[in-house]
Amino acid sequence: MIIVMRHDATSDQVKAVVTQVEAHGMRTHLSDGDERTVIGVIGTNPFALRDLFVEAPGVAEVVPITKPFKLSNREFRARDTRIPIGDHVVGAEDVWIVAGPCSVDGEAIFLETCRQVKAAGAHALRGGVFKPRTSPYSFQGLRGDGIAILGEARRQTGLPLVCEVLAPADIDTLAGLADVLQIGARNMQNFALLSEVGRLRKPVLLKRGMSATIEEWLLSAEYILSQGNYEVILCERGIRTFETYTRNTLDLNAVPLVKELSHLPVIVDPSHGTGRRSLVTAMALAGVAAGAHGLMVEVHAQPELALSDGAQSITPEAFRQLVEQVESVAAALGRGARVPA
Ligand code: PEP
Ligand code: MN
Repeated sequence: MIIVMRHDATSDQVKAVVTQVEAHGMRTHLSDGDERTVIGVIGTNPFALRDLFVEAPGVAEVVPITKPFKLSNREFRARDTRIPIGDHVVGAEDVWIVAGPCSVDGEAIFLETCRQVKAAGAHALRGGVFKPRTSPYSFQGLRGDGIAILGEARRQTGLPLVCEVLAPADIDTLAGLADVLQIGARNMQNFALLSEVGRLRKPVLLKRGMSATIEEWLLSAEYILSQGNYEVILCERGIRTFETYTRNTLDLNAVPLVKELSHLPVIVDPSHGTGRRSLVTAMALAGVAAGAHGLMVEVHAQPELALSDGAQSITPEAFRQLVEQVESVAAALGRGARVPA
C-alpha cells in the first residue's frame, strides 16, 4: 500500500504517519518526489490499516499496490531511479557501458584489456574473481589473487568496477573494492545473498535468472530494496528457450516492459544473451534501441585464451566499433548527452 501525502503536507505530518504505521508493526519506505511524498507501507495485509490513514492530517490518498512487487513498482516511485557510478548516472538518458573480461584470468592480459576498453569508451570495468561455473572442474576464478588485480585495474584506469559476489561471506571483501556488486543469474533467487546485499549502501547489479519470469526478477530486486538499499540495476542477460544455436535468448521485450512496471534502471548483456561473439554487437544495438539504460559486454584482449566465456568475448577493437555504433543509435534516439553525476 502507498500513502500519498498532500503536496503541502509538513514534515511533521509525514513523520506522524510513519510513526503510526510502524507502531502497527509495518515497515515504511519514503519516496520524496518533486511534488509530494509517498510512504510505502510494507507488511502483511497493510491495506487493513487504510481507514486509520485516509483522514490523517496531510494525507491525500491511500492506494493499494496490487502487484506483488511494491518498492520496485512505478506506482511507488513514478520517477526513474538514477544511480551515480563514477562520473556517470545510470538510469539517465545516456547509455552506461560496462566492459571487460568474463573473469580476471591473468594480470597482464586483464590490465591490457581494461586499458583498451577504457580507451574505447567504457564507463566501468567488469571482471569476475569468483566464477559461478556449471561444472566444478571449470576455472572457478582467481579469488584473492584476482581481487588484487582488480584493485590495480581500478588504480590504472580510474574506472569503477562491477564484480560478482557469490556468497555472503565474500561480500565485505568485495564491497571494499567494487563500486557495484553483481548478483549473477544463478543466484537471482539466493534470498540470503539478496538480503545481505540489501543491507549495504552500494549499487547492486541484479541479473535475471535464466528461467525467471519478469515478476520473479522484480521480486528478487524487492529483497534488496526492502532492506533499504534502493540502488538496484536490473540486467537482462537472456533466458532459456528451446533454441540451441544461441546460448540463451535475449529477451528484449523485458526492457520496455520493465521500464513500464518499474522505476529501476535496466541494462542488457548481449554476451551471455547470445553466447556467440558474432551476435554481440547486433544485440547490443538492439538493446539500446529497445531503451536499455546500459550494456554489459564481455571483452578480452585474447578471447581464444580466456579461461571463461571466450566464445562470446569480443576483442577490444570490435568493442571500439561497438561503442561507436552504440553512440550513433543513442544519438538517433536523442540519448547522446552525458548527464553529470
Ligand atoms: C557473468 O557475468 O560472467 C555471468 C556469470 O553472468 P550470468 O550470471 O548472467 O550467467
Ligand atoms: Mn561470463
